[in-house]
Amino acid sequence: MSVTPDQSKKVGVGVSPSPSPFLTPRPERRRRTLEWNPSRQDKDKEVNVQVLLRCRPLSDDEQRLNVQKVISCNEHKREVTVLQSLNNKQVDRVFTFDRVFGPKSQQKSIYDQAISPIVNEVLDGFNCTVFAYGQTGTGKTYTMEGGMRNKSGNLPAEAGVIPRAVRHIFETLEAQNADYSVKVTFLEIYNEEITDLLAPDDNPRTAEDRQRKSISLMEDGKGCVIVRGLEEEAVYNVNEIYTVLERGSAKRRTADTLLNKRSSRSHSVFSITVHIKEATVGDEELIKCGKINLVDLAGSENISRSGAREGRAREAGEINKSLLTLGRVINALVEHSTHIPYRDSKLTRLLRDSLGGKTKTCIIATISPTAQCMEETLSTLDYACRAKNIKNKPEANQ
Ligand code: ADP
Ligand code: MG
Repeated sequence: MSVTPDQSKKVGVGVSPSPSPFLTPRPERRRRTLEWNPSRQDKDKEVNVQVLLRCRPLSDDEQRLNVQKVISCNEHKREVTVLQSLNNKQVDRVFTFDRVFGPKSQQKSIYDQAISPIVNEVLDGFNCTVFAYGQTGTGKTYTMEGGMRNKSGNLPAEAGVIPRAVRHIFETLEAQNADYSVKVTFLEIYNEEITDLLAPDDNPRTAEDRQRKSISLMEDGKGCVIVRGLEEEAVYNVNEIYTVLERGSAKRRTADTLLNKRSSRSHSVFSITVHIKEATVGDEELIKCGKINLVDLAGSENISRSGAREGRAREAGEINKSLLTLGRVINALVEHSTHIPYRDSKLTRLLRDSLGGKTKTCIIATISPTAQCMEETLSTLDYACRAKNIKNKPEANQ
């Protein structure tokens, strides 16, 4: 059963953690929270980064203009073929992924086949992250958000990963009659500045106000990341989470119109943290904590069009340090490097606990089927293929 909404809804993250994640007061218990250790029984089990590829359909305009398609998806073989001809010779390139979703794929099948097992891991006490990576206009936001809910409050067919994950979490916990709490945060990283998408829109008047609003990343003694200044909102049912999500997305869209296409150069991170009471042992309670980060990344053209080739690497670094560093972190994980450069960007610092190691990571790479986008598509496919090789023993990068 979820906790009641009549308690204070705002909980500072990492600043002054409450003694128990549950808001229901139970003074008769000592309520010491025992740490849940999610290390797997099977020590040899490797932790994979799952990489999915999704190709969007042609838009109505593209269909009308009879735009040339250069992508062919074979979902059964999990292959994507880029059809290329050079001097009248066909020189196709084939890429294989963990799963491939073609232009006709439905939001529901992506969730059921690929994301639902990850959410089950979260409910088992793991930290997981789902990234949408790809060129602007290829369907990252559609895949992650899609339609939130229709007038009757139900999920529409075009509902994406986030609304489906939210419903899955609440439905499972209610079906288990669990004693739980759910908290969410929603932030944006733009030019290495973190903005809280759930913070009220009042203008800071004093230096003290500004100080309170600024968000910074810190690490505790155990190397865990603490986000200082970010508001964590407790939510009690599916509809409340949708309201929160819509509020944050609207804020992102407003910023988008004010600053031309800002959202294509920023990352949004929607995180859901679930605390579940596992057992009571004497006076103490064993609390299981799982977290899922759902990340809509900046458009990948921000890095791929600006490599050393064009002599603009430095500028690109400044435009989007986080996206570049995420690539470097992924490469370092692939190569089993002893140094993983998590600390080099806000995004990778923020998600450090959820990349490699004992966590589940899923990257959904999105591409367009058109000839016009072929260069970007090849770059996305290369990036996603490199990520596919990440296989860490659970303790490999601790
Ligand atoms: P991005 O976030 O990568 O910039 P969007 O999610 O905004 O891209 O998608 C661009 C456009 O394409 C939107 O109008 C969206 O509705 C549409 N779209 C993207 N992917 C799909 C899909 N798989 N099926 C139908 N429409 C899609
Ligand atoms: Mg988008």
